[in-house]
Amino acid sequence: SNDYRVVVFGAGGVGKSSLVLRFVKGTFRESYIPTIEDTYRQVINSNKNICNLEITDTTGSHQFPAMQRLSISKGHAFILVYSITSRQSLEELRPIWEVIREVKGANELPHIPIMLVGNKCDESENREISQAEGEAEAAQWGCHFMETSAKTNYNVKELFQDLLNLEKNR
Ligand code: GDP
Ligand code: MG
Repeated sequence: SNDYRVVVFGAGGVGKSSLVLRFVKGTFRESYIPTIEDTYRQVINSNKNICNLEITDTTGSHQFPAMQRLSISKGHAFILVYSITSRQSLEELRPIWEVIREVKGANELPHIPIMLVGNKCDESENREISQAEGEAEAAQWGCHFMETSAKTNYNVKELFQDLLNLEKNR
């Protein structure tokens, strides 16, 4: 089938829901509403092929391990989000990446589109992680990298578009 499942991981408050809502609905809210896992479906016309894009917005680090492994095994592509204003939020991603590697297996891993995303790049005055450091981390994990702002709508469309292109080119 043409189902394409994208799973969004990251610590609470980094902007996972904001990125997904900005992409799917074009909206942004200043308030923080903790998420119970939510899935959004969109029909995408990519290269004349109709594709059912399914985006799962996870609860972050509070997801039960068994649920986390299930979303990983069902997922085709992954967005790992930290906030550029929080070193802790980048550190919290490493264990998630390690579970992805374990569930997908070392042989399959290089073929799986994974994007490390430094969100809130509009908050440069509170920056704790430089763009270079984000890039270096992504290189270590063998994944792609991008900085975004759900608030200013910077690189949000590009994030999802690039992920779909990675899938097409693999
Ligand atoms: P989640 O827990 O990862 O889903 O985070 P949310 O999407 O709920 O966002 C947490 C808080 O960060 C909210 O108050 C958002 O308004 C804010 N936020 C999200 N994305 C951005 C961004 O790109 N820039 C700024 N400045 N704030 C953001
Ligand atoms: Mg959320």
